[in-house]
Amino acid sequence: MKNTHIDVLIIGAGPIGIACALECKKRNWNYVVIEKGALTNSLFNYPLNMTFFSTSEKLEIDDIPFISNNPKPTRNEALEYYRRVATSKKLNIKLYEDVASIEKFENYFEVTTTKSLYNSKKVIIATGFYDIPNLLNVPGEDLPKVFHYYKEAHPFTLQDIAVVGASNSSVDAALEIYRKGGNVTMIIRGDSIGERVKYWVRPDILNRIEEGSIKAYFNSQIKEIKDNEIVIETPKDKLTLPNDYVIALTGYRPNFKFLAEAGIEFSEDEKHIPNYNPETMESNVAGLYLAGVICGGMETHKWFIENSRIHAKIIGNHIDSKL
Ligand code: FAD
Repeated sequence: MKNTHIDVLIIGAGPIGIACALECKKRNWNYVVIEKGALTNSLFNYPLNMTFFSTSEKLEIDDIPFISNNPKPTRNEALEYYRRVATSKKLNIKLYEDVASIEKFENYFEVTTTKSLYNSKKVIIATGFYDIPNLLNVPGEDLPKVFHYYKEAHPFTLQDIAVVGASNSSVDAALEIYRKGGNVTMIIRGDSIGERVKYWVRPDILNRIEEGSIKAYFNSQIKEIKDNEIVIETPKDKLTLPNDYVIALTGYRPNFKFLAEAGIEFSEDEKHIPNYNPETMESNVAGLYLAGVICGGMETHKWFIENSRIHAKIIGNHIDSKL
């Protein structure tokens, strides 16, 4: 296995990992980004017709203009933008290489990947939270008819679909599938559609529910998933509904095990926030930095591209003072 010596190793080629790479390049550091999937793998896995809630200039990194047709860009436009940034700036990114472990030695880290071994003075973890879905933990969740990611509506036309959740992702999926001829039932744990649902989408879903074109069970949960039906518990009683597919969009969580194995500590409450200094983004492990949405732990709504792109510069400045 090749052993490469570098200044900064960045894990994850999402928007924030790419922003960190731009910082390293500007400072002439010897750096590499290791990404286990495609470039901007999380965005690649978003629904095909997804529109960001942010306007395009808020998603820009390093002041490189992001031009979109409408104020709020689509997934395709964002892929185009980050792809263009990575290729035109000739960033050193290795794709389809998974980081297995990070081990700290006195003055450097040894990072083992599925393809190589790196010795790096500093490591930045920008691995996001989109790889591990929050499970329903009910019988039948492992059936092939159950999805924790949603791509497009076409397969669900003329089918009985249960969409679990009431966030942006669930609402977008429910509306799109309904409009492509699916029979949609939303199963919602709380008593309302999420407050963070995009302000221009919220009235649409509320009206569809009110007129009955999309059914919604509030304060309700799926208890069991069977081949052709689901069992749900509502405040009144247990119901069995005909069902072809379940789309459970109940959020995602960072890979806490990966962080813990690298020596990172967490807050002891249910938020499980990783330990880092917000003024430097350095974690409790000296020389190991956190960047992007991973910083929120279970609070996956706290950080997004808009407010975490700044992490790249903060880390760059701090490493500058240390290298
Ligand atoms: P990610 O983009 O998730 O990148 C992390 C990368 O690390 C991934 O490519 C992953 O494959 C890689 N990785 C993980 N583990 C490893 C490993 N062990 N080895 C190598 N690589 C690894 N934010 C906004 O600002 N505006 C919006 O409008 C907006 N809309 C959103 C819509 C949806 C549906 C979702 C889910 C999120 C949205 N967000 C939005 C939030 C935010 O944009 C995303 O979470 C964004 O992708 C975060 O960027 P990141 O670089 O921190 O992490």
